[in-house]
Amino acid sequence: MDISFQIQDAVASVIRAPLASPFRIATGQHDELENVFLKLTTRDGVSGYGEAAVASHITGETVPGTLANLQNAAAALRGQTVEDAESACRQFAAAFAGNHAGLAALEMALLDLSSRVRGIPFYRLFAPVAALEPRLAFSTDITVVIGSLDEARATAREFASRGFRAFKIKIGRDEQLDLARVLAVHEIAPDSQIILDANMGFCAGSMLAFLDRLAAKGVRPVLLEQPVPKMDWDGLSEITAALTGSETLVCADESVGSLADARRAIDSNAVSAINVKFMKSGILEGAEIARLAASRGIRLMLGAMMESALAVTASAHFAAGLACFDFLDMDTTFFLKGELAHSPYLDEHGRFDLHDAGPGIGVEPSFS
Ligand SMILES: [Mg+2]
Repeated sequence: MDISFQIQDAVASVIRAPLASPFRIATGQHDELENVFLKLTTRDGVSGYGEAAVASHITGETVPGTLANLQNAAAALRGQTVEDAESACRQFAAAFAGNHAGLAALEMALLDLSSRVRGIPFYRLFAPVAALEPRLAFSTDITVVIGSLDEARATAREFASRGFRAFKIKIGRDEQLDLARVLAVHEIAPDSQIILDANMGFCAGSMLAFLDRLAAKGVRPVLLEQPVPKMDWDGLSEITAALTGSETLVCADESVGSLADARRAIDSNAVSAINVKFMKSGILEGAEIARLAASRGIRLMLGAMMESALAVTASAHFAAGLACFDFLDMDTTFFLKGELAHSPYLDEHGRFDLHDAGPGIGVEPSFS
């Protein structure tokens, strides 16, 4: 037993951070970040950190419930020697049934600790899919949240001028306004990729009609995320069938929260892409979803809930290690203010570069 892996202290705590502007989608909005963090420290003083981004309006999880689960896990981990972080993660999975954001935080902290004690970057824990090398540099899209036409224009102008080349536009509240917003972003950034995220706001017929109206104006999104309610598998399949052979991928987000969901989506030809997020499935199951999807020719997006620089940077490592993601949607730090808005590997142009990454994730939130 290697005692450098012995956990001496473990603490879970809620940390808040202000948003620079509200994050609005079809089903709700965030006005601040209020996430649960976990810090594990070895007897040698090496710490690993994890974060749970609780999206109550999407997953039904709560901050108090997540905090309680992580406090219980922290109590169980004190004094334990965790040399095999993956098997420790799997031991706790049952205790976090229905609280995948909590599970993600636990896995993140254990894997961060493991990579720091070993002196390797976090991405080294994830072997590339299909024998590719790690992909250490890539760019994120930027989200145009639900809002007015002027707000959409302002976001597009600011981020296009900063060099962003992929705009993920939230739609699904007001079809007429959505159409105007998408056209405005395309006009301001004509060479950029357009991604639409309806967050379940349409039915199959209205979604296809909306895409036709965009096509008539020369706008063809590269990807359409979660057009219909999460259990509307027929609607998803109908849209996917209608768009087969077109340049628009149909991507499940809310519909796929687990490996079982991913299998169902793939086996029923319901989608051509899947959005993986730590907070939906945890980290290890997220990697399994990615491997399954990649093996079946399904394209992959890596996304985030309202996550701080810690979870966003952990996700960047995950994307770098697995090297199978075509769409990176990890822009939430651009909506934050303060210490938690800063990832050491993300620049103001939306470009991640992990070539010089040190041990672990590389972000150490301060616990008061
Ligand atoms: Mg989404």
